[in-house]
Amino acid sequence: MGQNFEHEVVIVGAGPAGMCAAMYTGRAMLDAVVLERGFPGGELLNTELVEDYPGFETILGSELAQKFQDHAVKFGAAFKTGITVDGVRKRADGMFETVTDSGDTYVSPAVIITAGGTPVKLGVPGELEYAGKGVSYCAICDGAFFRNHTIAVVGGGDAAVEEADFLTRYASKVYVIHRRHELRASKILQQRLFENPKTEMIWDTAVEKVEGDGQGLVNSLQLRNLKTNAQRNLAVTGLFVFIGFKPNSGIVKGHVDHDEMGYIKTDVNMQTNIPGLFAAGDLRAQLTRQVTTAVGDATTAAIAAEKYLKARKDRAAQGGGVAA
Ligand SMILES: Cc1cc2nc3c(=O)[nH]c(=O)nc-3n(C[C@H](O)[C@H](O)[C@H](O)COP(=O)(O)OP(=O)(O)OC[C@H]3O[C@@H](n4cnc5c(N)ncnc54)[C@H](O)[C@@H]3O)c2cc1C
Repeated sequence: MGQNFEHEVVIVGAGPAGMCAAMYTGRAMLDAVVLERGFPGGELLNTELVEDYPGFETILGSELAQKFQDHAVKFGAAFKTGITVDGVRKRADGMFETVTDSGDTYVSPAVIITAGGTPVKLGVPGELEYAGKGVSYCAICDGAFFRNHTIAVVGGGDAAVEEADFLTRYASKVYVIHRRHELRASKILQQRLFENPKTEMIWDTAVEKVEGDGQGLVNSLQLRNLKTNAQRNLAVTGLFVFIGFKPNSGIVKGHVDHDEMGYIKTDVNMQTNIPGLFAAGDLRAQLTRQVTTAVGDATTAAIAAEKYLKARKDRAAQGGGVAA
């Protein structure tokens, strides 16, 4: 039998956005709880080095995550880990019910969803072993580590083609490996890629294995031509995988406005189409997804949630209804 808990704000996910929102709700003296299915840190825990967070020229992802959490806790944030949120719904009385996998229900007048997203993996041997050691899912984040290297990109959509072109700013050579003989990316992006002398297409080919140099870094890929079945090795020191990114928006997808990819739509205050329900970070429909944008979103969301709660209390004090 699940338990019921009551808070002023429930924050779903303890990545950079969730932890930043928790810091701000703490500073606003709100009773907030952060529910995290794993450990606090989000994608920072899968990031070796962060070199683009202002104030830290270079910092380990795990170290930045710890600093975010310590900072939030200092202002009174409560974290509950190992709890997966299954769904968030608004009741007729204006309160939200956040239901977890253990059957517990968290009741609150405001919810901030910061559940992030997950890059789709290739699922081949060596991929996870070398993640952060040559295998990456983020060109803006990791491109600069591959200055003058020969690297490969996997994928055929807009993200793969755009990022392959971007990566030639650093890499001396970028192979683009695609399963088919035609790219899905828009024609203009394809044209830019094909005209770039630093790129070379490898068509009809799948990556079967990521191999290392014996010292923990990537040094080659095992490839298979899907038409001829021929195998070969490609010497590269980096592999960027862009075969999709899934926002973790399933917990509200049925009833909250989202784009065709599943990213949650918000207004400028990070509020969704449901009053009192805010979204911040990687699962929000927006131009780019970085730690800086996640914490920026979260700052706005937490302050907007505080204002929403105050307006709600004021309405109740004046004898008006609280259900918004
Ligand atoms: C490999 C890699 C390297 C990167 N490097 C950089 C970099 O160098 N610089 C940079 O600025 N950005 C980098 N990024 C992007 C950056 O990590 C993200 O933009 C940022 O982490 C987004 O923060 P977030 O809080 O929105 O989401 P996330 O970091 O994804 O955190 C979401 C959290 O929510 C939790 N969660 C999800 N669903 C549920 C649920 N149902 N119940 C409970 N908890 C849930 C997850 O476990 C996770 O902890 C990188 C990303 C990747 C993948």
